Amino acid sequence: MYVGRFAPSPTGPLHAGSLVAALASWLDARAHEGRWLVRIEDVDKPRCSPEATHTILAQLHAHGLVPDVPPVLQSERDALYQQALDQLLAAGLAYPCACSRKEIAQVLATQGQGQQRHGELVYPGTCRPENGGLHGREARAWRLHVAACLQRDGLPAGALTHWQDRRLGPQSQRVAEAVGDFVLRRADGLWAYQLAVVVDDAAQGITDVVRGEDLTDNTARQIVLQRALGLPTPRYLHTTLVLGANGEKLSKQNAAEPLPEGGAAQCVANLQAAAVALGLPAVSAASPEAALRQWILPWKMQFG
Ligand code: GLU
Repeated sequence: MYVGRFAPSPTGPLHAGSLVAALASWLDARAHEGRWLVRIEDVDKPRCSPEATHTILAQLHAHGLVPDVPPVLQSERDALYQQALDQLLAAGLAYPCACSRKEIAQVLATQGQGQQRHGELVYPGTCRPENGGLHGREARAWRLHVAACLQRDGLPAGALTHWQDRRLGPQSQRVAEAVGDFVLRRADGLWAYQLAVVVDDAAQGITDVVRGEDLTDNTARQIVLQRALGLPTPRYLHTTLVLGANGEKLSKQNAAEPLPEGGAAQCVANLQAAAVALGLPAVSAASPEAALRQWILPWKMQFG
């Protein structure tokens, strides 16, 4: 049974780009006669608000995008994430880390490596158990031991993780080298997106992840984590991104406008723009529901 999801972070109202992801995941679920869930990804508590959650759910509803079961909130699922971290620690696949950002930067500088990835430093492994652990310091964050995860599956530490995207085709990443031992629980006590998303996709029985192309780069990391936890890997489809007038991807960070509000006609127009971005035909419809129905078949032809 197909189960899909839309997983917005409630840092602000939906914008044109997030509606594309919502529409694509909804259409894919309907095209497969599956279920469509909404998961509110509010693990980053200081950046998220109950008001934004409320607004997003109301916006989805106004656009005819109604989840088949009530939405779940990640902020209420700490126990599940803790259980997953405990499992990884017990298996020797995760470890506590005492290093601050500054210390990590210093170690990398002495090694002549300033390797940065989207502003993230590739962790040099100072606190790995085989390097002496915390060295008597206090744990701040918890990290996945990527090399140990790969080796447990009989792969070399530098192995490529391969996966197939339903739109983009074959993908691969050398996770240990490109990303390194990524954080599962942050120094501020918050759960990292990677852990929460992997635990929840499995707990909710998600078979198909349909989301924006900006998240493609996270997939190999999530697959390594799924395997480490003994969880299944869903199928993935990363959709095109909607670019703003400046050619940059729309996001709350670059102040993408919230979706224009209004009645049914405005919602149909918003959906129309999202559908065209996905390569679907323009339709004429009096209600969002009527418009949505007309895109199921064209979506099936493209991605079914
Ligand atoms: N919460 C993430 C975001 O809003 C999406 C996560 C996902 O779909 O895997 O960017």
